[in-house]
Amino acid sequence: MCLFCRILRGEEEGYIVYRDDFFTAFLDKFPVSPGHTLIATNTHFDNILEVDDETLERVGKVVKFLGRAIKNALRADGVRILTNVGRSSGQVIFHTHIHIIPSWEDDQEVFPNFKPRAEQPKEYYMKLQRIIIEGIEKELKGNS
Ligand code: ZN
Repeated sequence: MCLFCRILRGEEEGYIVYRDDFFTAFLDKFPVSPGHTLIATNTHFDNILEVDDETLERVGKVVKFLGRAIKNALRADGVRILTNVGRSSGQVIFHTHIHIIPSWEDDQEVFPNFKPRAEQPKEYYMKLQRIIIEGIEKELKGNS
């Protein structure tokens, strides 16, 4: 079974921030920027070109919802939203996931001394998980 399927089943450590019937979002272990989050499909598909139509129809909505929640929660100026298909594109885990990568005009202040693409100290995952979950709760209230 793939790494992401194991995270979804709770068999592998993962800092989950969101879950619904179709998607689970968790922190990237090797983040490009603070708050870098992955939205994975609950069902295993190798990449987004393989996803079934029922799941695919819901991608836009969850990306918008979590993109907004994360951007607001981290007071980011922008977010990169992307998905890789195939090794040549940079895909490493062959289980469909969409990256939400926050960006700032100036230095970010969420997590000082952040080192990109490295495994972070445990405080990083705990702090970002908490902030993002709070942001999602706020976003949910805003939509109701
Ligand atoms: Zn999988």
